[in-house]
Amino acid sequence: MSNVLSSMKYAQANNYVGGKKVNTFSQRVLSVESPLDGSLLSEVYLSSAQDLAQAVAAAKKAFETWSKMPIKARVQIFFRYRNLLEKYYDELVQLVHEENGKTIDESKAEIDKSIELCEFACSMPQLITGEVMEVSKGVECRTEHFPLGVVASIVPFNFPAMVPNWTIPNALVLGNTMIMKPSEMVPLSTLRLAEILTEAGLPDGVFNVVNGDKEIVEAICDHPDIQAVSFVGSTKVAKLVYQRATSHLKRCLALGGAKNHLIVLPDAHVQMTASNVAASMSGCAGQRCMAASAMVGVGNVDHIVAQLVEEAKKIVPGENLGAVISKTAKERIERFIGEAEAQGAKILLDGRNTTVQNAEGGYYVGPTVIDYVTPDMSVAREEIFGPVISILRTKDIDEALAIENANPYGNAAAVFTQSGAWARYVMENASAGMIGVNIGVPVPREPFSFGGWNESRFGTGDITGKSSIEFWTKLKKTTTKWNPESKTNWMS
Ligand code: NAD
Repeated sequence: MSNVLSSMKYAQANNYVGGKKVNTFSQRVLSVESPLDGSLLSEVYLSSAQDLAQAVAAAKKAFETWSKMPIKARVQIFFRYRNLLEKYYDELVQLVHEENGKTIDESKAEIDKSIELCEFACSMPQLITGEVMEVSKGVECRTEHFPLGVVASIVPFNFPAMVPNWTIPNALVLGNTMIMKPSEMVPLSTLRLAEILTEAGLPDGVFNVVNGDKEIVEAICDHPDIQAVSFVGSTKVAKLVYQRATSHLKRCLALGGAKNHLIVLPDAHVQMTASNVAASMSGCAGQRCMAASAMVGVGNVDHIVAQLVEEAKKIVPGENLGAVISKTAKERIERFIGEAEAQGAKILLDGRNTTVQNAEGGYYVGPTVIDYVTPDMSVAREEIFGPVISILRTKDIDEALAIENANPYGNAAAVFTQSGAWARYVMENASAGMIGVNIGVPVPREPFSFGGWNESRFGTGDITGKSSIEFWTKLKKTTTKWNPESKTNWMS
């Protein structure tokens, strides 16, 4: 065994095809390091088109029998999968913590949410019942949902278990077979989910994991036997994937990045607002597509900003604040803070140059609060993806909404106020798919669906909840007549 292999905590991350781990044809590898301390966790193989072909062949074969099973039988496997997520809870929490760098509590939330997503999929038989009606004498129309075939799910680094579970249970329960492409930075949790699915009784080939980078994503978009592609990641890549997959006439839903604005009015509850804003900007080290990135204070909100700084000071790297994903990410976030400072913003709390004792090799950025940011600054315009909040000041709510509306993204927006009328005004006029009222991270829980607007989502419909049924299935409409005596009319 080479020195590299013996210093790795986990086995090499290969692919998972046909119900077992398989070696890749490709020999390109990348180190998988823990952002917590820089230690070597594994090596991931970066697959080629040949590896994809192997996985698609397995998925295509599995589709023949999986798609013919009654949904009530398919769901039984997901009841077991849900229970196994509980059985392996601590192990999964640890894996997510180590490979992504988020805190143990945040990793627990990720597995809790995965369980909820699975529970929703288990209710699918109740949701996809078709319709039937006698449309003229003796003539009936009925509808049924049919699976698409082999589908793909391409996911980002920031939720190594939860985002894969946005698509796995729903797409599979609905009768599809899947190729999952994890982020090359966090391949381990998804591989473990694949093993757990097999243990739950999922037939071989129904769920396959193909690790890799840009090359494999492009191969997925191009493969003629993949019917639909779902993507979650940055807007830059979401656009590329959407364009490439649809150019091959595939169904595609591509969720992109975000720049979420929290509008704070002077009448907002001080403590609740401050703690919500602090939690929203720093949870998962700011690496959430639902994170608060800009706070827009309307009128005099100095009392709330002061309390926000107090709350942010309670967030301690290595304790209740995890690491960011990489050295590159840390440098990028710190560069944004430096630019804001150089452009005249006021740094109220500075998270640059943070290290954690006994984890000096980790990538930490402390909570950062930047005040008097103007709309032209990079911290106001771009997704920072770190524990940083940029505070902009406006004279009235329309100016605040104009700033929110002008940003090209549209994942989430929130308002903090005690006034129902102002809350309603923001609910109507913010240009985002998910709105919070006195909630800093307005993630809709099942059965409500998840999805943004504008450049935070390309394609129609949402990725979870009831809305996902339309994406993962095609509707068949059948018209029948059995009675020859039925009087023929204009349509029959
Ligand atoms: P990313 O776009 O860099 O990577 C996402 C996936 O695309 C990964 O599997 C990666 O291997 C692949 N990829 C990367 N570059 C590619 C390229 N040039 N061509 C083809 N494929 C490529 O995103 P990330 O850094 O892993 O994740 C963070 C981003 O994801 C943030 O922008 C965040 O807002 C976004 N995100 C969005 C949502 C949402 O629901 N809208 C949820 C989670 C994360």
